[in-house]
Amino acid sequence: HNAKEQGVDIRRYVPLMQMKAAERLKMENDLRRALERDEFYLEYQPQVQLSTKELVGMEALLRWQHPKRGLVSPVEFIPVAEESGLIVPIGEWVLTTACRQNKEWQTAGYRPICVSVNLSMRQFLQPNLAGKIGEFLKRIGLDPCYVDLEITESMTLDKEKAFEQLKRLKELGVFISIDDFGTGYSSLHYLKNMPIDRLKIDRSFVSEVMEDSNNAAIVSTITSMAHHLKLKVTAEGVENEDQLQFLRQQRCHEAQGYFFSKPVRAQEFENIFLKSATFGMPS
Ligand code: C2E
Ligand code: MG
Ligand code: MG
Ligand code: MG
Repeated sequence: HNAKEQGVDIRRYVPLMQMKAAERLKMENDLRRALERDEFYLEYQPQVQLSTKELVGMEALLRWQHPKRGLVSPVEFIPVAEESGLIVPIGEWVLTTACRQNKEWQTAGYRPICVSVNLSMRQFLQPNLAGKIGEFLKRIGLDPCYVDLEITESMTLDKEKAFEQLKRLKELGVFISIDDFGTGYSSLHYLKNMPIDRLKIDRSFVSEVMEDSNNAAIVSTITSMAHHLKLKVTAEGVENEDQLQFLRQQRCHEAQGYFFSKPVRAQEFENIFLKSATFGMPS
């Protein structure tokens, strides 16, 4: 059995394998206390609609301020949280915090935008996930249409389970995106059948799109396929004007990346709301 057959995204486990056992255990123990000690916070990165240059969404990204190690990258600690199961309570904190923040901004009168939250495999497979999310959103008074759940291709490998979960989430009215699209093992079959709304083109294709004609071909093909399948398409990792122009030519719907803004804390994001009318983009 190789990793692919077992439905494991090998890229996620490479950092785990490189980490020494003692180091991992230490991190797991630290993670166990991080929630109660309030060491997590969220940053938000804007998502911009390319046809109008409007701010239309934001992605919530988890940050861990470790008391001794300082800021630890999610690339390092998410795999440990996933393997230990701690990702379930942590992920729930991310989802509730991001949704509450979004509601708060709507109440304050900022333009309503959608918040994207990354789901891990374990969270996604939780029984009654849609029921719990639905109840929570009702309680805080946030319309599900302002919530986008990002899953990865590997989460849809168990087709029947994934289909059932996605169907319930769609009935609830949240948006579903496939994150890091093009790096996993998706088949065109599932794209045709899964109830999803959007593809997020992986940053690795976008970052080299002007230098590498193969990447340009991939980005243009994914975008065109999304149009034909009536899915939305968002480019990740847009860092410069040339990439942006290329994406606009391809009629990519939305983009996210350092060109617009790095992920920032909630308070700084309010400045983005205020200046987002033009977003520094040429007409
Ligand atoms: P992702 O979901 O694909 O998030 C996008 C990552 O790309 C973020 O890294 C973001 O800071 C980075 N990025 C955005 N624009 C640019 C750009 O223009 N250039 C470059 N070089 N990078 C850019 P970050 O925040 O380090 O997160 C890494 C990954 O960790 C995320 O990838 C996601 O898979 C995971 N992650 C983050 N927060 C959560 C969470 O709350 N739950 C789960 N399950 N995973 C999370
Ligand atoms: Mg994401
Ligand atoms: Mg991701
Ligand atoms: Mg991504």
